[in-house]
Amino acid sequence: MKAIQYTTIGAEPELREIEKPSPGPGQVLLKITAAGVCHSDDFIMGLPAEQYPYGLPLTLGHEGAGTVVELGDGAVGIDVGTNVVVYGPWGCGNCWQCAQGMENYCPRAAELGIRPPGLGAPGALAEYMVVDSPRHLVPIGDLDPVATVPLTDAGLTPYHAIKRSLGKLRGGSTAVVIGSGGLGHVAIELLRHLSPARVVALDVNEEKLEFARSVGAHEAVLSDPSAVEKVRAITGPAGAELVLDFVGYQATIDIAMGVAGTASDVTIVGLGDGRAHAKVGFGQSPYEASVTSPYWGSRSELIELIDLAHQGVFDIAVEKFSLENGVEAYRRLSAGTLRGRAVVVP
Ligand code: NAD
Ligand code: ZN
Ligand code: ZN
Repeated sequence: MKAIQYTTIGAEPELREIEKPSPGPGQVLLKITAAGVCHSDDFIMGLPAEQYPYGLPLTLGHEGAGTVVELGDGAVGIDVGTNVVVYGPWGCGNCWQCAQGMENYCPRAAELGIRPPGLGAPGALAEYMVVDSPRHLVPIGDLDPVATVPLTDAGLTPYHAIKRSLGKLRGGSTAVVIGSGGLGHVAIELLRHLSPARVVALDVNEEKLEFARSVGAHEAVLSDPSAVEKVRAITGPAGAELVLDFVGYQATIDIAMGVAGTASDVTIVGLGDGRAHAKVGFGQSPYEASVTSPYWGSRSELIELIDLAHQGVFDIAVEKFSLENGVEAYRRLSAGTLRGRAVVVP
């Protein structure tokens, strides 16, 4: 079968012919219908050899949708022919975190050698993929897999980040979204659906700001050295109640800290190498502001997102690529020219 693999540190991923996998005991084989491309892939492919833990060659793709085509011995709870999306942050399934569905924070996954698909285990940028347990599948019924697959990360990660702060968003509140790309644009749609907050989006050029407005941002502001001033002009002296940074570089974390209000949440999702701690301290950060950096989301949150998708809440912006052209999706991602999420359709 064809797969897009990262084979050489520092090099572009490649389209390769590899053996079609078969499901082991308890596992499930999917025929992939759609696979999303995430900026985190770009991040891991930028790591030097000594910091790269995922093994080579690595079949990329931690956002996957497919049809169940084969069940391994003893795999129960899902039928052949079911259309599903994959819950990616696999955990042990048995510990306290996993019992709550928060497998993204399973403390045992590392010691057990459990890694997410596309981030250690073979991922979804292929014709077929093995999922380690039926527990990691969410049926999507008649939803379009191409428009739905970004919910598994570009939706799930912001959903988790927003849900934990929803109590802070009331009428008159401001939520700031820095970086209106794959994750950011779903964050804007979620904020508009889940909260009464005014949504202010930031990005680096007018085209991206227009995109942010088109998915629901009330205001869109250029992310430049005067960004804090411009956002503060919108929020007034209270500042923002929630700031979501989907970039994470020092420049954006400084903006995030600069626009945060009293008792706000500053949530750093992007994997940039910036730090907030230089800005946290009495008299330096807003009173009672919290700074956090979450990872992905829980199984139950993905189920909730699929329910929201059935209600027609999302208008996910997708640029489609064939598997043969999937490497181009990564080039466009690195170049910053995608509108929304790149999705590869085998
Ligand atoms: P993306 O490339 O689709 O979107 C990033 C957006 O940020 C783009 O629109 C880009 O123009 C914009 N941007 C870049 N520099 C900026 C700046 N200085 N100010 C404002 N905007 C700027 O990326 P994505 O796939 O949405 O991922 C976003 C980030 O989240 C990445 O760092 C990714 O690795 C990370 N991520 C984290 C988690 C997690 O669990 N913490 C999960 C998924 C992705
Ligand atoms: Zn991702
Ligand atoms: Zn666990």
